[in-house]
Amino acid sequence: MKIIELRSDTLTQATPEMREAMKNAVVGDDVYGEDPTINELQELGAKVLGKEAALYVPSGTMGNLAALLTHCKPSEEVMLEKNAHIYYFERGGMASVAGLLPNLLDSDNGVVKPEHIKASFRPIAAQDLKTSLLVLENTHNLCGGTVSTVEDMDAACETAKEYGMKVHVDGARLFNAAAYLKVSAADLIKNVDSAMVCLSKGLCAPVGSLLVGDKDFIVKARQWRSILGGSMRQAGHIAAAGMLALTKMVDRLHIDNENAFFLAEELNKIDGLYVNMAAQHTNLIYCNIDPKLMTAEEFEKKLGKRGVRVIALKTGMIRLVTHNDVSIDDIKEAVEIIKEIC
Ligand SMILES: *Cc1c(COP(=O)(O)O)cnc(C)c1O
Repeated sequence: MKIIELRSDTLTQATPEMREAMKNAVVGDDVYGEDPTINELQELGAKVLGKEAALYVPSGTMGNLAALLTHCKPSEEVMLEKNAHIYYFERGGMASVAGLLPNLLDSDNGVVKPEHIKASFRPIAAQDLKTSLLVLENTHNLCGGTVSTVEDMDAACETAKEYGMKVHVDGARLFNAAAYLKVSAADLIKNVDSAMVCLSKGLCAPVGSLLVGDKDFIVKARQWRSILGGSMRQAGHIAAAGMLALTKMVDRLHIDNENAFFLAEELNKIDGLYVNMAAQHTNLIYCNIDPKLMTAEEFEKKLGKRGVRVIALKTGMIRLVTHNDVSIDDIKEAVEIIKEIC
């Protein structure tokens, strides 16, 4: 049976070109700083993202945690949106490993505005407690892959500065945001102190993320990466796929965003399914299902039997994600199967 994989863009497979590059990569021991492919990837990553330096890390989770550890000391407070990936899906590392207090912000569909930061700032606590960091997530995963614009990012950075906070961006899908806005990823993060981007999601690398910031930040983050067990040796083999992720895959992300928009519109035409098109910016689709039709779990199961893989969330919603391994024809086929099931 043909499988149409819509659960996540993390399920993307390395392209044939990536497989060839991984086989032929020139490598060395990166703990000695001697892996030329990793060095090349870090230099390119820094350039593409407009920062002084970059660090190759095994995962986005580790990149975020290394950033928190580098910017903050234990018992300090971190402001982050209340549905942030760091708060929901990173196993509480910010508390258990970094010893940080979360201060959860409201947002407009994942977009943190100055008023949200101001409303959550705790002046009395600030006598004893340093609120050292603001985290922005762009695109915002749980809020539906929603995008913060350059203006949104800059305004939040300005307010953070007023309160003496640094700014870190969880930009797992920052390039999807940039594609949607038709701006460069560097422009989106030009006023932030650090950012993490995933190479292993829509960009199709098998493993790896990049953390970027100024030179001093990256030197310290490298020490934290080592403490977290993230130093790798001849990882140039996987970094070679990361190079192609940056050079070949960024420019096609608009297709994933557009395919998701098409799919969301088609889902909206089906009785009992509903997608909020105002939040349909990028490649993540969060679809509501009328429980009178069936539960999200039943939907997931029935579709799975027909080869279309989606995720039923505990919230009763269904998540679908477009990526390089699903074509527009696959999506049209999936729509037909969804119609039959409904
Ligand atoms: C996937 C994701 C991460 C974590 O990346 P991993 O490589 O899976 O650890 C962080 N933030 C957001 C918003 C994500 O979607």
